[in-house]
Amino acid sequence: MDCIFCDIIQRKSPAEIIYEDEKVISFLDIRPINYGHTLVIPIKHYEDFVSVPADEMNAVINVTQTISEAVSKSLKADGFNIIANNGAAAGQRVFHFHFHIIPRYNTDNFHFRPILKNYKNGSMKEIADKIRSAVTK
Ligand code: AMP
Ligand code: ZN
Repeated sequence: MDCIFCDIIQRKSPAEIIYEDEKVISFLDIRPINYGHTLVIPIKHYEDFVSVPADEMNAVINVTQTISEAVSKSLKADGFNIIANNGAAAGQRVFHFHFHIIPRYNTDNFHFRPILKNYKNGSMKEIADKIRSAVTK
């Protein structure tokens, strides 16, 4: 299987590694939205958010919190986004699960401006019912 992130883990591809332990690795995104844009990923290859087992996801989330603080403080960010794209329709291009940590600045002029929908009569409950019936816990 061809995976650029597995190559980075195995040191077959170069990266600016920020942190690594037995379950998680973090490195700089090569095409940053802002400088210091960092990725956090499980060492084992899982395709997306829902396929990562709970204990590994816990480790990934803990590291994401620690690295967010480091990125934000060291680069004097005014804020930061944590994003995970899941599926090609959502913009995922590397199919090894990752969180993006994107440092943000009051002046960075980067906007995500979707056109928001309105629920039609009764359709909000209909959608909620569909989701509730699919919850597995
Ligand atoms: P996504 O679109 O959510 O799948 O994000 C994949 C991210 O991986 C993009 O932001 C890319 O810039 C980044 N990326 C791709 N190849 C590399 C690489 N060799 N080193 C670091 N980041 C990479
Ligand atoms: Zn991989």
